[in-house]
Amino acid sequence: MSRKYLLPGAAVALAMIATPLTAAPAFAAPEAATTVYYDTSDAPTFRDQINAGAANWNAAVSNVKLQESSSGATLHYTEGNDPRGSYAQTDGHGSGTIFIDYTQAEQYNQTRITAHETGHALGLPDHYEGPCSELMSGGGPGPSCTNANPNAEESAQVESLWANGFRAAAAQQHRIYEVTMPVK
Ligand SMILES: [Zn+2]
Repeated sequence: MSRKYLLPGAAVALAMIATPLTAAPAFAAPEAATTVYYDTSDAPTFRDQINAGAANWNAAVSNVKLQESSSGATLHYTEGNDPRGSYAQTDGHGSGTIFIDYTQAEQYNQTRITAHETGHALGLPDHYEGPCSELMSGGGPGPSCTNANPNAEESAQVESLWANGFRAAAAQQHRIYEVTMPVK
């Protein structure tokens, strides 16, 4: 093989390498926020409230964003009747299932319920003894509490948890309102 054939071949190889290298920075740039996609198709009764709760979180934090999507979602909302009440079964980092209980939804502010459970999916624990201004106090302040927004401290906690994007967290399960559920 003569050199005049080697040289064009080397040029082609360089071009093949150069193309992805040139394009790499556009893909390598870190995202400002991690997006969590959620699906409401199995909780049609509460879709508006779920979206309102997600919007409240989106307004309060910037390191993670919630976006409704019927495909590819990691966070799924469902609805039904469960004597244990509403709950979130989640890894605390955007994946899992949130169940909305009909009975509780008749008693408590529905957007507060969905926003609270979504708070678990974003990594926050329950804090039932907190005031109504805390979202994660859940049913602690009673049915008259209609606040569906995280307070500054809760927002800061979520910002910190999501500061470096996805980080694996131990699987955990949270329930809401069980301490105030009426015994029937
Ligand atoms: Zn809870």
